Amino acid sequence: MKFGGTSLKDSDRIQNAAQLVSERKNQHPVVVTSAMSGVTSKLIETAEAALEKNKTIVSENLAWLHKVHFTTAKTPEVQKEITRLFQKLEEHFTGVEMLGELTPRTLDIICSFGERLSSWLMLETLQSLGLSAERFDSREFVRTNNQFGSAEISWDFTCPQIKKTLGPALKKGIVPVITGYIAATEDGQTTTLGRGGSDYSASLCGVCLDATEIQIWTDVDGMMTADPRVIKNAKPLSQISFQEAAELAYFGAKVLHPKTIQPAIDAEIPVKILNTQNPTASGTTIIKDSPQTKNSIKAIAFKKGISVINICSSRMLGPYGFLSKIFNTFAEHQVSVDTVATSEVSISATVEDDSFTDELIHDLEQFARAKVIPNQTILCVVGNGLKDDYRVEQKVFDTLAKNNIATELISKGASQINLTFIIPTKAAEKTVQCLHDTFFN
Ligand code: ADP
Ligand code: ASP
Ligand code: MG
Repeated sequence: MKFGGTSLKDSDRIQNAAQLVSERKNQHPVVVTSAMSGVTSKLIETAEAALEKNKTIVSENLAWLHKVHFTTAKTPEVQKEITRLFQKLEEHFTGVEMLGELTPRTLDIICSFGERLSSWLMLETLQSLGLSAERFDSREFVRTNNQFGSAEISWDFTCPQIKKTLGPALKKGIVPVITGYIAATEDGQTTTLGRGGSDYSASLCGVCLDATEIQIWTDVDGMMTADPRVIKNAKPLSQISFQEAAELAYFGAKVLHPKTIQPAIDAEIPVKILNTQNPTASGTTIIKDSPQTKNSIKAIAFKKGISVINICSSRMLGPYGFLSKIFNTFAEHQVSVDTVATSEVSISATVEDDSFTDELIHDLEQFARAKVIPNQTILCVVGNGLKDDYRVEQKVFDTLAKNNIATELISKGASQINLTFIIPTKAAEKTVQCLHDTFFN
């Protein structure tokens, strides 16, 4: 049972989450916590303020962070832990300020405090309900490489460690409370699994412990036909396939960390998305194959902050190896490409705005012309009906044409369940609404 920040916003929400665990204690749950709502973002903001030597922001933010945790803590022991953790956290901010340097490694240490703090609050609340619970710092058993900010898990090391650490506790009827999102390298340096990464931690624990189910508890009734913050009449989906969910998560349906699903697919463990505020709702079950719906598509997702890089060269005509040169350049700069479309003499690739530098463009220009188009949004309609129902494409592009929305790039292929295109960000919300009306109203 993984509880997201939205489900750990304050002591009432934590109480509510703990109650849900207590009601399921006969199923031997393992609890994975994320940071309290807004905490990870606040930690990042504070680290950046420390780098800029903005003492006012640093102390205001620290005061907010301290208040949120300290006023939620009930027992003197946990209040003491919180005080101890805040002393350490302050030292890190002072270090950043003094050195004038914020490395990805330091940022990961700072980000780790969110989960290290919230797990104490969950622990004491479970104990106050009479459960025998124990807190585990995931850095003791989740091992990763040193790719700070989005580290890769070493499954071979981690899985046996999880079994060894949590297995005996579960046998004794203890409810383990685990810090999501954070891990450590072989030499003990703190890493994180990427924003939203506690979903991935939950999936990791579920797979390694051979759980019957992985439950992602959040603040909506499951995976919906579109982001409910943007589309007011979005509807929950009762079932969705692993592949559809992965495509949606990857392209912006933030409700689930994209990497969560793959290990669960391989282990054939169902993943459920459930609402802490509405626990009797059936939520969304992510299953191996889901039935086709009458619309052929299940949902629409979008991700802002995208740039299109158009790479053009007459040298592309004929010789082999040109594409590999282009993609090697992206790889050398550690930039990941979301979508591509190619023609005889050009390639369009999309990347996240903050993932690349001018040096990448400079290096691409060694063998082609490269032009960056910023302020784009990646939008995709997903559903396994897309494979056979050619009317979906017609409906999508009719809707765009009727609303005067031009696309920068179109891609359908590979998975066959995802039609992706790029539009200017200023048209994003309107486009999602129009498409949602076309398919779901
Ligand atoms: P948590 O704190 O539980 O991890 P997140 O903010 O990571 O919560 O994810 C839940 C949010 O995901 C919802 O509040 C919702 O606004 C957003 N979201 C985006 N797309 C979708 C979608 N298709 N279905 C459901 N929620 C979505
Ligand atoms: N606390 C982390 C974040 O906000 C991880 C998570 O919530 O899943 O990104
Ligand atoms: Mg999340």
